[in-house]
Amino acid sequence: MSYFPYNFHGHIEVICGPMFSGKTEELIRRVRRAQIARQKIQIFKPALDTRYDEVQVVSHSAQSIPSEPVESARDILKHLKDSTRIVAIDEVQFFDKAIVEVVSKLAERGYRVICAGLDLDYKSVPFGAMPELLAIADEVIKVKAICTICGAPASRSQRIIQSVDQVVLGEKNEYEARCRGHFDYESHLRNLDESEKSAPLN
Ligand code: ADP
Ligand code: MG
Repeated sequence: MSYFPYNFHGHIEVICGPMFSGKTEELIRRVRRAQIARQKIQIFKPALDTRYDEVQVVSHSAQSIPSEPVESARDILKHLKDSTRIVAIDEVQFFDKAIVEVVSKLAERGYRVICAGLDLDYKSVPFGAMPELLAIADEVIKVKAICTICGAPASRSQRIIQSVDQVVLGEKNEYEARCRGHFDYESHLRNLDESEKSAPLN
């Protein structure tokens, strides 16, 4: 963990991993430490993530912090207050590709940017703009969940309901954390109805 003087230089941190790996918990931990340091921070999330709450960022372990839901990546710049020094963004994989430019711009302007998001989707394919965000980050942390089959560290999110949409907002009824060995996208496909199989896989 670095103790860089964030108020002088920008810094991009990306917390990534599968579902249930503690990304939101880690984001909340960093936000709370910044608040203890009396640094002005704004927390954003994509408006489409309404799983637990319209406004709060909430972890699977029921920790929560207030946030500002935004429709698009560029809205983050529009909502920025003059006094803000740190920008935290949860579920960053759901943002449009402009998020890469927005995050770089913030860092160039001297902000500390903390992003949390899924590195991979339910097919184990890199999610949205995450590859670019990981590349431009100054600090990357990959957190792991616990595989629901064997208890090993889990890096994959197994979809256990029948849908081929990349975005299915979910909780324990929809997804399970799985290790590489127990992740099985093929079995997910075998369980799909014939009608859903013909839908585009994107
Ligand atoms: P993420 O944002 O990565 O989805 P959260 O920070 O919301 O994760 O939640 C992490 C918490 O989820 C853990 O501290 C634990 O209480 C809970 N949890 C539930 N299922 C699992 C699992 N399979 N592996 C690890 N943690 C789990
Ligand atoms: Mg989360």
